[in-house]
Amino acid sequence: MATIIDGKAFANKVSEKLAEEVKQLRAEHGLRPCIAVVLVGEDPASQVYVRNKIKRCEELDIESREHRLDAATSQEQLLSLIDELNNDSSVHGILVQLPVPDQIDDAAVINAIAAHKDVDGFNVANVGALSTGNNLLVPCTPLGSLMMLEDHLGDLSGLNAVIVGRSNIVGKPMANLLLQKHCTVTIAHSRTRDLADVCRRADILVAAVGRPQFIQGDWIKPGATVIDVGINRIDDNGKSRLVGDVDFDAAIEHAGAITPVPGGVGPMTIACLMHNTVRAAKQQNGLV
Ligand code: NDP
Repeated sequence: MATIIDGKAFANKVSEKLAEEVKQLRAEHGLRPCIAVVLVGEDPASQVYVRNKIKRCEELDIESREHRLDAATSQEQLLSLIDELNNDSSVHGILVQLPVPDQIDDAAVINAIAAHKDVDGFNVANVGALSTGNNLLVPCTPLGSLMMLEDHLGDLSGLNAVIVGRSNIVGKPMANLLLQKHCTVTIAHSRTRDLADVCRRADILVAAVGRPQFIQGDWIKPGATVIDVGINRIDDNGKSRLVGDVDFDAAIEHAGAITPVPGGVGPMTIACLMHNTVRAAKQQNGLV
């Protein structure tokens, strides 16, 4: 039976350390890290995500400034706000909650954020830095996943890692991080042949597919460590329930360790957003 990797407990540990760091920054340097969170429109899931992020900021004494814009906001208006925030030295991190409405090009928005304030790590400058091994601000979900892997396994060198999913926000940065840790990395996707066989070679299996309970128990190498990034809402006999991309009940019979959904990668993603905000504040004040 697999060990359950408790992402919530680990995220609390990471957050406690960050809260200590924020306290020290305020006491020794009069510096309070500050993140601007921009939400365009009324998407209910985005509203929940933004609320959770702001709540975590409050718990850590990080300043958050919320900018709520109308769903009809033009790209020009949003870019103008980003420009203002880029030039405001009291703002250290800028996060635009995605997705943005259709009239706005998300790539234009992401790349308008100054790289040193891009706490999501999606800007091409941060992507380039990550892929050349000079990490600046690293995307939060893969960073949190890596922290859990290292906490659980220690040295990852030489392990076979398979990532199912090749998105810019999870799959690709995860692959770069695991390469940096000297794993042998395979990225699988919807065109991959014999996916089950590919997965069976993994000492580390990262599922970022966006399909409920897609990875089957017998695709998992006995003893492998499984990171389930997926967040999918399903109807379970009339009750709404969150599940991952891995068939958890079957997977625990094969895996050595696995992250649950909820309570795995999700809490670590928010903790890493806080980590990036503190890091950005320190960088901008010559403290790293
Ligand atoms: P995307 O939809 O951007 O990417 C999904 C990837 O899965 C694509 O690369 C796609 O392949 C691949 N895929 C789809 N179907 C198959 C298949 N049948 N076989 C193999 N590969 C397949 O998703 P994201 O990366 O944004 O998110 C993935 C999941 O993680 C979602 O459930 C999302 O909700 C969750 N998530 C969770 C976060 C957290 O904080 N825990 C944060 C971000 C995401 P192809 O490229 O060929 O189309």
